[in-house]
Parts: sequence; C-alpha cells; structure tokens
Amino acid sequence: MNQAEYKSDRQKYCLECAVVIPRTAEICPRCDKPQAITVTRKIRKTKSSDISRERMVAGVIALIFGSFGAHRFYLGHWRIGVLLVMFSWTAIPFFWGIYEGIKILHATDKEFVKTYLR
Ligand SMILES: [Zn+2]
Repeated sequence: MNQAEYKSDRQKYCLECAVVIPRTAEICPRCDKPQAITVTRKIRKTKSSDISRERMVAGVIALIFGSFGAHRFYLGHWRIGVLLVMFSWTAIPFFWGIYEGIKILHATDKEFVKTYLR
C-alpha cells in the first residue's frame, strides 16, 4: 500500500514535504518539520527578540512615513492605514505618526503586543 497517496480523517499532510502523516503527529517523521495546527501572525511573533525588532521598525516607520499611515500598513492595520492616507492632505496623520512613533518606541514589548499586535 502506498502510504503517501492515502489520506483519511486521522491523517494530514506534512506542512513541509506534503507526505501523509498521522493527524496527531507534532513532528513529521520524514523531514522532522514541526507541525503547527494553525500558523498565524501571532504565533510567528512569540519570540521576544522578534517583537522588539518589530516594535523598533514600526516606531521608526511611524516617525518617518507616519503621515501616510505606513506603520499601520506595516502592522497589518490596513483600515486605519487607508484612513490615514485619506487624511494625509491634512496635518493630522503627520502629528499622529510622530505621536504613535514615540509611543511605540517608548512602549515595552508587552504593551506593544497588547496595543498593536492583537
Ligand atoms: Zn515532512
């Protein structure tokens, strides 16, 4: 029987090499790739060094390109980003960008996650 061509409810495909493995498997027996149930943005950002880097980048973007909502696009908040672009002809997003940039750079990683990485 060719195991790779058969898939039941108790089996799934490896995220890395697509071979059929048991649904409960946490690591692929063939390529040793860990099998996450869902890979979301939040899960990928659990490493604290990643969050610090993300926070610094978002803060600097906010200070430089904040008047176009660039930091909000960067953080995946495209609705607010679009709103900021629409009002970029006024001075409001400019000051908002500086305000948020300073706020982001001064926040702790925990505060940053709570406020911006929902
Ligand atoms: Zn695999």
